Amino acid sequence: MSTAASAKNGTWRNWGGNVAARPAREVTPASVDELAAAVRKAAEDGLKVKAVGTGHSFTSIAATDGVLIRPHLLTGIRTIDRDSMTVTVEAGTPLKRLNMALAREGLSLTNMGDIMEQTVSGATSTGTHGTGRESGSIAAQIKGLELVTADGSVLSCSEKENPEVFAAARIGLGALGVVTAITFAVEPIFLLTAREEPMSFDKVTSAFDELWAENEHFEFYWFPHTGSTNTKRNNRSAGPEKPVPQLQGWFEDEFLSNGVFQVAQWVGRAAPGTIPSIARISSKALSSRTYTDIPYKVFTSPRRVRFVEMEYAVPREAVVETLQELKTMVDRSGLRVSFPVEVRTAPADDITLSTASGRDSAYIAVHMVKGTPYQAYFTAAERIFTAHEGRPHWGKVHTRDAEYFAGVYPRFGEFTALRDRLDPDRRFQNDYLRRVLGA
Ligand SMILES: Cc1cc2nc3c(=O)[nH]c(=O)nc-3n(C[C@H](O)[C@H](O)[C@H](O)COP(=O)(O)OP(=O)(O)OC[C@H]3O[C@@H](n4cnc5c(N)ncnc54)[C@H](O)[C@@H]3O)c2cc1C
Repeated sequence: MSTAASAKNGTWRNWGGNVAARPAREVTPASVDELAAAVRKAAEDGLKVKAVGTGHSFTSIAATDGVLIRPHLLTGIRTIDRDSMTVTVEAGTPLKRLNMALAREGLSLTNMGDIMEQTVSGATSTGTHGTGRESGSIAAQIKGLELVTADGSVLSCSEKENPEVFAAARIGLGALGVVTAITFAVEPIFLLTAREEPMSFDKVTSAFDELWAENEHFEFYWFPHTGSTNTKRNNRSAGPEKPVPQLQGWFEDEFLSNGVFQVAQWVGRAAPGTIPSIARISSKALSSRTYTDIPYKVFTSPRRVRFVEMEYAVPREAVVETLQELKTMVDRSGLRVSFPVEVRTAPADDITLSTASGRDSAYIAVHMVKGTPYQAYFTAAERIFTAHEGRPHWGKVHTRDAEYFAGVYPRFGEFTALRDRLDPDRRFQNDYLRRVLGA
């Protein structure tokens, strides 16, 4: 598995390199029983407990000074049920392994995010999502969950069994227990045709509603300091399969999107004044392409340039105005932003603390390359996002607290009441959860 997060000299670091923690001890349970025993032992020793995935979160949501539970030995597929079209996987399974195993069985998830390095439990616990008109986040595809709660007992939930736990625990922030297995809805594998096409900022924002309505999965990247975007439309296709040829794929996805992009980031970091010119040149170099492939090969791609990210969900009808405000802010500021801004959508879902809970949503994500100061840009962007009742991604940089969340999540109290019931002694607490959920 890709171990993005590292632990050297007892220090745990996340993928973005902006969070570090020193756990009191690490355990790598190989079974649900071992995991439950580790939770009970932590309680005896008066230590907090935190299960981690691959450390791909940019917030300190996965940091702990207590017992760090590693996922590496809780991996693999438990069962595939072709009658109910579900798959049950161990919680530490990397999404990549799940996607590849499903494809071998002729099955697929319906929607996914940009990468597949994360574990299934890590990805779903923070509400990881891609883009979709009807299909929601990865957590919205969950049909059942098994978790070890603070007293070391195993609790199962689904729409029928413990439905109040199911409503919240699909995006549980690691606050309700340690997830040990997840049951996902799957469908027969299908083909998607991707159409990538440059488009002006003015055109994509004026036609956003149609572009969203006409495509199953629509997203675009805006290049700050330019009026250019690159759009991507993914729609189901009857075939034939027409993958990006291997050499072309290497050139476009590895050399241009990762290699040349990395060099441009280094130049921009050394000489920030060159960033607007680099952005204009690179946005002009974009070209259209169309390919047809199985879902995970269309939805996901490698991300080798390390960065730090903030992403907010705003009501979908507010996305164009929010983005225009962001563009005006960047144009008027002295900021130098070398990373594209990503825009995606999700339909309303029924998960208590999902960023799309009860509201059709659009996501706007801002990034800065690792090692460059991001605070000024993110602070200015966050001011714009919160003015539109934005809900930050739980795993991406933000400064919001429990008081704010009580205002933007109508069911916030439902989540905290369940947490009071399942974890009264705050065994799964850390500084981040104290801030976002309250003590
Ligand atoms: C390069 C990159 C690309 C990304 N792309 C996207 C994207 O397209 N869409 C998107 O929405 N996000 C994206 N993200 C964010 C990322 O998907 C989330 O932060 C995700 O939570 C990371 O998963 P992880 O396995 O690394 O979990 P971690 O970051 O290690 O942990 C996240 C949370 O999950 C909890 N957790 C982990 N395992 C368990 C368990 N077994 N039981 C209970 N809680 C558990 C942890 O306690 C923590 O609270 C991206 C991040 C990076 C670095």
